Amino acid sequence: MDLDYRNIKIDKTKIDYLFNEGKAKIYIKRDDLIGFSFGGNKVRIAAEIFEEIRRKGYTAVISYGSYASNLNRVIAQMACYYGIKCYIVCKQEKDFRTTANMKLAEYSGAEYIYCDVLGVRESIEKAIRISESRGERPYYVYGNSLGEGNEEVLLRAYKKAYNEIKNYSDKNEIHFDSIYLASGTGMTQAGLIAGRYENKGKEEIRGISVARKAVEAKKAIVRNLVNGKIFEASDIEMLNPLEMIKVNDLYLDGGYGFYGEGIADTVKMMVSRFGIALDPVYSGKAFYGMLSEIRKNDLEGSFLFIHTGGMPGFFDFMLK
Ligand SMILES: *Cc1c(COP(=O)(O)O)cnc(C)c1O
Repeated sequence: MDLDYRNIKIDKTKIDYLFNEGKAKIYIKRDDLIGFSFGGNKVRIAAEIFEEIRRKGYTAVISYGSYASNLNRVIAQMACYYGIKCYIVCKQEKDFRTTANMKLAEYSGAEYIYCDVLGVRESIEKAIRISESRGERPYYVYGNSLGEGNEEVLLRAYKKAYNEIKNYSDKNEIHFDSIYLASGTGMTQAGLIAGRYENKGKEEIRGISVARKAVEAKKAIVRNLVNGKIFEASDIEMLNPLEMIKVNDLYLDGGYGFYGEGIADTVKMMVSRFGIALDPVYSGKAFYGMLSEIRKNDLEGSFLFIHTGGMPGFFDFMLK
């Protein structure tokens, strides 16, 4: 199979000035406008994954995530685009519901394997077995069945995005004091940290957690950075990562997939005033968190928000 055909390339995304909030100047990086499958951070990450799949000759892909996972949808659609089989291991939590992301993945012919939170490892192994029994060579997006080993590939996506931010800063002589983004698995934030580290950048990279307590989220980011070979485990102790890595968990609002009025109003405000759709599970939660921090602490300076996408979640929100 020749997967070089019609290779999906990620174009640089633009940065726009949005508005002032008190003394803070807010800019936005429009990763939601990446031109495949509704955009978002998962398209950058999936492009790196499929680059590996192509180079190493895999013939199937296995993704993993919850019912609201944008990664699952993008992997399913990219697999369909390149003509390879896709399996999705999907966590069935207590608040499980059908989402636009799930339907889109199903349209692309992805095969779902459901599991509970405790049976993830077994279900990944089951997906690998099913695929191999069909004569395929499956690639699991996170590496081994414990979800580790592929960090180097996954981190590349936002290392590159950091370089785009740096080029913009240099060219326009705008220094961003803080870069804000939604933080879930922490892979996107770890990629940005890796990019900043390699470029000796000075921005604070601030994750607004969408699911986990801050300590857990920070540990995941450290693991991503060590497994991704950005830092040595020994450097990490010296660098005191729990201080160095910034994740705020004040805006969990009931946890993954849940949101209150503040987030809902922010989503409505952004789409009405600026024509920019955020989703309440990720980007809307993070944007609300950033604005709340700026207001509460009367913060000053230039702030860059990375719009990590989540468009299908915006429409789930509209129809709820
Ligand atoms: C997955 C996702 C995130 C979080 O990215 P992680 O790398 O998992 O931290 C943020 N925003 C959207 C829209 C996402 O789909």
